[in-house]
Amino acid sequence: MHETTIARSLVERVEEIARRRQLMRVEVVGIRVGVLRAVVDSTLREIYRELVAGTDLEGSRLEIAPAAMLAHCRACGAESETTRPFRLCTRCGSRKMSFTRGQELFIDYLEAEEG
Ligand SMILES: [Zn+2]
Repeated sequence: MHETTIARSLVERVEEIARRRQLMRVEVVGIRVGVLRAVVDSTLREIYRELVAGTDLEGSRLEIAPAAMLAHCRACGAESETTRPFRLCTRCGSRKMSFTRGQELFIDYLEAEEG
């Protein structure tokens, strides 16, 4: 499943950051996920919890926020940021919209006890 791959790489990245910053106990992992990735938050959280069970990250919680994408109108050139795809350009009403940058996934913040 899609979410499994994401959760795995996420855990690796969090472990790496925790090691580098010598964090004792990570409590919250805040991430932003591009809306075009179509990640199911509850599924991702569940898999994350399973993956970290028995590791140093056990008990940490995932907070998921959407990362905005860029809407670009190919008719009038209007650009705007949005977390939701829409059909018509809000400026000229054209349907020639393209969306970019909705694929990001990054760690926004970590809450932890410092070692
Ligand atoms: Zn337009």
